[in-house]
Amino acid sequence: MSATRPARTAATHEVSNQPPPLVDYNALDADPALCEALAREGGEWGLDRVRDFGAVVAGAEAQDHARRAQRNIPLLRSHDRYGNRIDQVEYDPSMHWMLRLGVEREVNSLPWRERRGGAHVVRAGLFHLLNQLDTGPCCPMSINYAAVPTMRQDAALAAEWERRLTLPDYETFAQAGMVFTEKQGGSDLRANSTVAEPIGDGWFELTGHKWFCTHPVFEVFFTLAQTDAGITCFVAQRPHPGFRIQRLKDKLGGRCLASAEVEYDHLPARILGEEGRGTAFVVEQLIWTRLDTMTAVAGMMRRVVAEAVWHARHRAAFGAPLAEQPAMANVLADLALESEAATASAMRLARAFDSDEPAEAAFRRLALAVMKYWVCKRGAPLAAEALECLGGNGYVEEAPMAQFYRDIQIGTVWEGSGNVIALDVLRALTREPEGAPAFLAECELAAGADPRFDAHMARVRDALAALACDPASAAWSARRVVEDMALALQASLLLRYAPAAVGDAFCAGRLDGRGLAFGDLPRGVDATAIVQRALEL
Ligand SMILES: Cc1cc2nc3c(=O)[nH]c(=O)nc-3n(C[C@H](O)[C@H](O)[C@H](O)COP(=O)(O)OP(=O)(O)OC[C@H]3O[C@@H](n4cnc5c(N)ncnc54)[C@H](O)[C@@H]3O)c2cc1C
Repeated sequence: MSATRPARTAATHEVSNQPPPLVDYNALDADPALCEALAREGGEWGLDRVRDFGAVVAGAEAQDHARRAQRNIPLLRSHDRYGNRIDQVEYDPSMHWMLRLGVEREVNSLPWRERRGGAHVVRAGLFHLLNQLDTGPCCPMSINYAAVPTMRQDAALAAEWERRLTLPDYETFAQAGMVFTEKQGGSDLRANSTVAEPIGDGWFELTGHKWFCTHPVFEVFFTLAQTDAGITCFVAQRPHPGFRIQRLKDKLGGRCLASAEVEYDHLPARILGEEGRGTAFVVEQLIWTRLDTMTAVAGMMRRVVAEAVWHARHRAAFGAPLAEQPAMANVLADLALESEAATASAMRLARAFDSDEPAEAAFRRLALAVMKYWVCKRGAPLAAEALECLGGNGYVEEAPMAQFYRDIQIGTVWEGSGNVIALDVLRALTREPEGAPAFLAECELAAGADPRFDAHMARVRDALAALACDPASAAWSARRVVEDMALALQASLLLRYAPAAVGDAFCAGRLDGRGLAFGDLPRGVDATAIVQRALEL
């Protein structure tokens, strides 16, 4: 080494202008939109409970478990060392930690144990928050949540299973599963080819295959098979030698959760509901999990928006914090609007599930399909934009953005992909004529609050009338009509309940001509107020 070279300092670099991690805060307190929605929709009595959970899911311990579970993905152990089939899935202990958390906090069971008004709303708040930690463990929570009303369609089966499905004890509760999709079709379940043969005493044996089977460690599950009377819903149990896991899927997202291909070989099962009317009975399971799919996406949206706002507040470029620069403020405000609209939609729908009122039932049937379509459709573009707010940091797996970017896409496939849901809305409009008036009446509660909203409502009414006049070509324009209905309900909710800046910006950015990318809010919206509300920290 040359004696004339200047002396160096020991450190190779210093870390500056990197935001601290967003951790150890309260995910409910930081989110006034969720807090207000819970109170408004009947869940005020559960706020302390949800708040407590908000601290857990945003805590360092929980986030560390999520990180580990994502890295150590499940393994299939098909055989033991001697060659015997065992069909087990090995989860990382951190995945068990998250599943245990959900079960013990009654994320899968609260409304079936706590029979108070607003229980579905409180539980939706818990589910929203658990999705902010990781959506992987949420899927089994959702399946059990839905399994109770599905099982209740058969009093004897419900008596046998309900108590264990809802036990808040991870060691002794019964996990449920739903195994419908086959290789040749998942949307069109009537095409299932699995065969059921009667073996007496009301029992059948099922033989066939299933192409997607999530969390195949359940104890009891719903499935579909063909009898002489047609497609029929069955309840079966595992472990059983007649239930075999073929392989685990290598998935885009939800990687900490196992999804498998499975086969049945003379697997014993009992009928749930009526023979030959299986799809009518599994609809109950799909309704509740559809509510959850929307709420899950709303929760994931919330997490990535919080991360984006946090980063932009703590990162400077060209001499100023990103969040204070107009182009970024526009993006953040636009993302925050989308997230708040999704949260408000999910909580309003959850309230509809708390009610026995016929008008609420009519609203629920149509609004659930409309809002599931739109909230899930918006998830992936929102996550992409939120990731971009972190620049290169967003693209690496150490930040949660890459995970959420992958995970959020599941909302578009689960419980009805876009076209299937849009066509379901058309079906509901035709078959249940009380739905559209109930939906429009809810939207119209904001009539007169904003001229852009009133004009949008007029367009929605015209579009619905046009559909009714020309049902043959309705499918072609279904997506646009559903989108406009969804925007009408979201605008109505925000105009009625959110601060004026939020309702105004939503009308300006979504109803009054809109750009195709986020960050295109027109001049004059109060981005500062919107972004401040997006993360109260
Ligand atoms: C991670 C993951 C976990 C899953 N877990 C489970 C599980 O536990 N249990 C289970 O049973 N299934 C599960 N599934 C399967 C899922 O429910 C199906 O993938 C879904 O229902 C779609 O079915 P498909 O894949 O057969 O697609 P298809 O039904 O073939 O649909 C393909 C495309 O065609 C569109 N389409 C369908 N019909 C029409 C039409 N009439 N007009 C226009 N477009 C149409 C759809 O919208 C979709 O975009 C899981 C899937 C994933 C990705």
